[in-house]
Amino acid sequence: MKSAKSPNPISPYCTGCGACAAASEGTVQMDWDAEGFLVPRKISSREIPLASFSACPFPKANAQAPDEDALAELFLKDSSRFEPKIGRFENTYIGHSPRHRKTSSSGGLATYVFENILTRGIADHIFVVTQDGAAFKYRLISSSNDIETTSKTRYFPVTLSDFFSLVRSLDGKIAVSGVACFVKAVRIYQTQHPEQSDKISFVVGIICGGLKSASFTEYLADKAGADKDFTHPQYRVKDEHSTANDYAFSAISSNGEEHAIKMAKVGDMWGTGMFKAKACDFCTDVLTELADISLGDAWLPVFREDGLGHNVVVTRTKVSESILRTGISNGELHVQLADPAEIISSQRASFAHRWDALSFRMALAKLFRHPVPAVRRRVLKRTPILQALVQVQRERTRYASLKNWRHSPNARSFDRRMFPHRVLLKIFTKLNHWAR
Ligand SMILES: Cc1cc2nc3c(=O)[nH]c(=O)nc-3n(C[C@H](O)[C@H](O)[C@H](O)COP(=O)(O)OP(=O)(O)OC[C@H]3O[C@@H](n4cnc5c(N)ncnc54)[C@H](O)[C@@H]3O)c2cc1C
Repeated sequence: MKSAKSPNPISPYCTGCGACAAASEGTVQMDWDAEGFLVPRKISSREIPLASFSACPFPKANAQAPDEDALAELFLKDSSRFEPKIGRFENTYIGHSPRHRKTSSSGGLATYVFENILTRGIADHIFVVTQDGAAFKYRLISSSNDIETTSKTRYFPVTLSDFFSLVRSLDGKIAVSGVACFVKAVRIYQTQHPEQSDKISFVVGIICGGLKSASFTEYLADKAGADKDFTHPQYRVKDEHSTANDYAFSAISSNGEEHAIKMAKVGDMWGTGMFKAKACDFCTDVLTELADISLGDAWLPVFREDGLGHNVVVTRTKVSESILRTGISNGELHVQLADPAEIISSQRASFAHRWDALSFRMALAKLFRHPVPAVRRRVLKRTPILQALVQVQRERTRYASLKNWRHSPNARSFDRRMFPHRVLLKIFTKLNHWAR
């Protein structure tokens, strides 16, 4: 799967959305890099067109590219409310879809919304992430009968590069799911191709704390005891008799045996930044501010008690508001209005990392003469010294995880090599919490 490392021809900050490849007139193609990320690779001696660079959701600091706020002004101009951390919106909710949540990652709202998009004719097709052996990829689905195959969130690199050519060629309207940077790429595409903009009739935002490399899945499969030829990785195997965050990872070995491991036994995979794309450290969109609807996990004390999970929901358009309202009134949804502060609180750790410490990460990048992508100035704050220490150690841990897995793809030796990094990060994090 992985080929040698070569510099990214478009941007040093990349999450693999593939918008550049779609605009490249055949000069660039998405491919695996040595660290297990999907990145653009130059495949032609012709020059890469400028359109590829302007399609990127992580533009250079001096590029004249619209940021999330400017794009929201274009796409969500009719939204009735604004909150600096939430963006433009209609309402905020917490709840679940009883019919979908057993087979979904969280409260099953994403599957419910996509089903409604198809049955109500809001779109003729949906473009969502589905299983593909040991991996995952975006797939076009045109019938609500197939909806259950689309459920579950996948912590694996995927690319939207085919989406943009589909929008051009396909009859009918398309709805798409995406994490924040992918949603931004879709919105940029719509501004650059106004004649196709209406064909993208709905965007579901999957709230995301950071994208993982394919090595993350390999590591978890090895930790669970599956062999190297494993298939069907599942990241969110729920335990309805336990709490929402007590979920397991599972995979199937080549002999058909299923192996599972509780994520609590693996240790913190999110706060440590292990296997994470560097670009995610420069993303300021915690709540997928450009989607029609944003869905995440209700990581809040009272909802955490329920092992089947609940979603936090932000409706941003009249159409998404209507889907929710109808579902509530006909009893298909167990969803209640929530205070916007609760939604923000559910993503507290993500805001603390991505907003509160961003100015320090930018200063650090400048100090090492690394390029810094354009970010929204309004989110920047002064970073306290202990938080800065956490940032330095988190970056060292992230970098070491990718390097160590590349050199020795074995969970036991990997854990041994990562141990000092993780201990140090834990100490700095504890000190930072104590100081706060
Ligand atoms: C990379 C990643 C990071 C996440 N980080 C956070 C976080 O920080 N905070 C938080 O609250 N929640 C996070 N989540 C979880 C996610 O927000 C919830 O699971 C979401 O609310 C959907 O739950 P659901 O039960 O409604 O989804 P389901 O009903 O299970 O449906 C999931 C939908 O998402 C689509 N999908 C799956 N994987 C991807 C993907 N990689 N990209 C785009 N679409 C996809 C599927 O096709 C399906 O339509 C993350 C998810 C991902 C993929």
